[in-house]
Amino acid sequence: MSIKQLLDSNIRDIPDFPKKGIMFKDITPIMQNPQVVTSAIKEIIKEVRGWDIQAVAGIESRGFLFGIPLAVMLGVPFIMIRKEGKLPYKTIAQSYELEYGTATIEMHIDALKKGDRVLIHDDVLATGGTAEAAAKLINQVGETVGFSFIMDLAFLNGKEKLKDHAENVSSLISY
Ligand code: AMP
Repeated sequence: MSIKQLLDSNIRDIPDFPKKGIMFKDITPIMQNPQVVTSAIKEIIKEVRGWDIQAVAGIESRGFLFGIPLAVMLGVPFIMIRKEGKLPYKTIAQSYELEYGTATIEMHIDALKKGDRVLIHDDVLATGGTAEAAAKLINQVGETVGFSFIMDLAFLNGKEKLKDHAENVSSLISY
């Protein structure tokens, strides 16, 4: 079975979650299957090889699930990008627009060294607003060298938005 077929058969569509009109892509079936998790991680490693990555930043909270094993496999530090007010030490912040209002994400001030080359990871690329804000946050100290997602929702054109921030965007399956 191809990696796309393997992932597709382990991603569950939940209609109208968390609100009406949204088709939520649930990765919990992947997490219940260690062989699929292993295959996904190996595939991401193949795609990002050659990007000269010095750290992996995962976006709260599902970006932590694959972000940590990715960092371990690449032999680089893992950085948590979290919603405002969650991190205990001194932070730097980045705000961004939501459909209604704004949101803020943060990372620890000592998470990166100046100029560090960072891979940003999340499970789903939707509009790209969150990943774009993550890149701006990373770029306050380091450099975003690419983005990695398990899947992208192609009809929302998130990849286009991210191309302005890094030349590399990897997604294992598109919907
Ligand atoms: P974005 O619109 O790209 O900023 O997405 C915001 C956050 O919500 C990201 O962390 C995505 O992983 C998550 N997300 C957005 N749409 C979906 C969806 N249909 N299914 C699962 N997660 C989603």
